[in-house]
Amino acid sequence: MNTRLKILVVDDEFFYRNILKDALKDRYDIIEGENGEDAITLAKARKPNLIIMDVEMPIKDGIDACRALKESPETRKIPIILFTSLSKKEDISRGLKVGADDYITKPMCLPEILARVGAHLRPKDYYSDLEPRDLILLLELAEHISAIRNPMTILHLIVDKMSDMVDNARCSIVSINDDGVPYVKASSDLEIHEEIMLELCNYPEIVKALDSKQPIIINDIKNDPLMDSVSAQIKGLNFNAIIVIPVIKKESVIGTFLLRMATPLSDGVTKRIHKLCQLVANLSANALETAILFERTQTSQEYFEEMSIRDGLTKLYNHQHFHDCLEKEFSRAGRYHTPLSLVFFDIDNFKRINDTYGHKHGDMVLSAIGKHTKSIARLSDVPARYGGEEFAIVLPNTTSEGALGMANRLGTLIREHTFECLNGENVTISSGTSTFTDNSVQSSDQLVQLADEAMYKAKALGKDRISQA
Ligand code: GH3
Ligand code: MG
Ligand code: MG
Repeated sequence: MNTRLKILVVDDEFFYRNILKDALKDRYDIIEGENGEDAITLAKARKPNLIIMDVEMPIKDGIDACRALKESPETRKIPIILFTSLSKKEDISRGLKVGADDYITKPMCLPEILARVGAHLRPKDYYSDLEPRDLILLLELAEHISAIRNPMTILHLIVDKMSDMVDNARCSIVSINDDGVPYVKASSDLEIHEEIMLELCNYPEIVKALDSKQPIIINDIKNDPLMDSVSAQIKGLNFNAIIVIPVIKKESVIGTFLLRMATPLSDGVTKRIHKLCQLVANLSANALETAILFERTQTSQEYFEEMSIRDGLTKLYNHQHFHDCLEKEFSRAGRYHTPLSLVFFDIDNFKRINDTYGHKHGDMVLSAIGKHTKSIARLSDVPARYGGEEFAIVLPNTTSEGALGMANRLGTLIREHTFECLNGENVTISSGTSTFTDNSVQSSDQLVQLADEAMYKAKALGKDRISQA
């Protein structure tokens, strides 16, 4: 007797029917239909265990067929998965309203199809390999996951509980960021705020799980050919078996769930542990996705905050930020009786540079000078692009000698720089410095004016020099 389960695949396009057929034919018997009428006729005649049906089809579309199948007592119990393009979200809600059990979006991701189909066709005794304590763990995790808001807390809870479940096991959850770089987000070996970046070349088992989007099970890492490339590194490790489960969310692999076990599993990794890992990995998918999104928004927020105070071309601080900092430093210097200096400098003959080599090459000069300026600034200094080809540096706690030294070093650095963009021609700057010590200057504006005047004096005296206010 044929005990294989039957899946009815309905699509007017041969291409999609074929993809589904290829993905499923090894495990299930496939029946094919081309439109909604076929779906109803074949469902009644052949009694499939599951129907996967396209929404857009001629004669009768997937929504109408789904409604009819769910209204008929003969077919209403057959689970229906609709598939539709991601852009047609309204199809999904229409489908669910008429009773579809699930949906898959195109382009299709084979592991996701298998996982969804597997979930709908899960035999009644699917959980029978699990022990009662495993079921309690799953229930407990499900409850925590719905109650805890911090995704990182959830991930840590999952790895801790999971490593307690299996003797001598260590559990980790790895995320894959946008650039494909893996990070251990949570691990039973790590402290709660620790994260480690992984060098993928040292983890062939993770690479294989990511590439194949399938679970990887290794019973004996020291004798498995997959681990040959890292045999030297794993020699001293005190675990023998590994399970890696890809964590899939919205058609892409967002990470992996890993369990490493010390005990060699003589009869292979038992079904119980594999199943438990798969279920826990599924449970962790939402938390992992939220953790990744959270990090991305945080990073982009920091990025935008940082960009709003920087000049795009030179990456130095902008005019506004320069003034904000100067004002703060000015009042601090007054309060604590510490010196405060300013260096202003302007590129010599920049107009000629632009005229000779073009604006774009002029920009390259500005950018290179930005880099030099940054390179000599201390952490507490505020190097800024004041405007055009004029720059300024706030030097807290710096005397006039200190400011002169700074201007000198910068002048030399720039004079000695070979500008490839100017066919090797040199560039010079003229600088002016001003210093506040013990109420010698009335306001930050006056300090700016003094440095600016000094700079113009340097220009008037023949450029490529420093003048002190
Ligand atoms: P001096 O030695 O007296 O400072 O003369 P100069 O030619 O350097 O000064 P001037 O003020 O006559 O010209 C400055 C030029 O800088 C004019 C302007 O087009 C150019 N400039 C300002 N901002 C930028 C920029 O962002 N990129 C480029 N490429 N040029 C800029
Ligand atoms: Mg100039
Ligand atoms: Mg100028």
